[in-house]
Amino acid sequence: MKLLLHVCCGPCTLYPLTVLREEGMHPSGFFYNPNIHPFQEFERRLAALDSLCAAMDFRVESVREYGLREYLRQVVFHEEERCLRCYEMRLAATAAHAREIGAEAFTTTLLYSRYQKHEAIRAIGERIGRESGVPFYYRDFRTGWQQGIEQSKAMGLYRQPYCGCIYSEQERYDKKSRRQG
Ligand code: SF4
Repeated sequence: MKLLLHVCCGPCTLYPLTVLREEGMHPSGFFYNPNIHPFQEFERRLAALDSLCAAMDFRVESVREYGLREYLRQVVFHEEERCLRCYEMRLAATAAHAREIGAEAFTTTLLYSRYQKHEAIRAIGERIGRESGVPFYYRDFRTGWQQGIEQSKAMGLYRQPYCGCIYSEQERYDKKSRRQG
């Protein structure tokens, strides 16, 4: 199956890529994450992904433009549902790219993280799959959570301390914000 794997970052890519390859699939990657802020963090995560691609001979098409404005235009005044809008943006772009390259299905490394809203990602992915005509390949990659962590540490990959957006950065470091949340 020609599968397009949306990649959110290097460390979260390791386990899904490893297990898919072990099963005989050879996905190509697509990095589109306008939710990663600020700019230096975006560049750092891209560099980590580039290292992973070189080490694992993995081909990824990366949208390297910093997408702060694009992201904010989708979520401002809708902060409570920002994650759903964030998944929608990224998966819709992935499905569109999958169509362009003639992929038979698409999926995402977001399904690897224990910190994401897993069922929402699945529901949004499956709906976009129906609407776009390119099926969403659902898989619970969380089963390899620990394996992925160990692999990324062994490779010395940069492991980010927060999800991505400026809101999540505040929630990670601002104790007052965490109490209010
Ligand atoms: S917390 Fe993560 S998933 Fe939610 S909006 Fe921010 S970057 Fe996107």
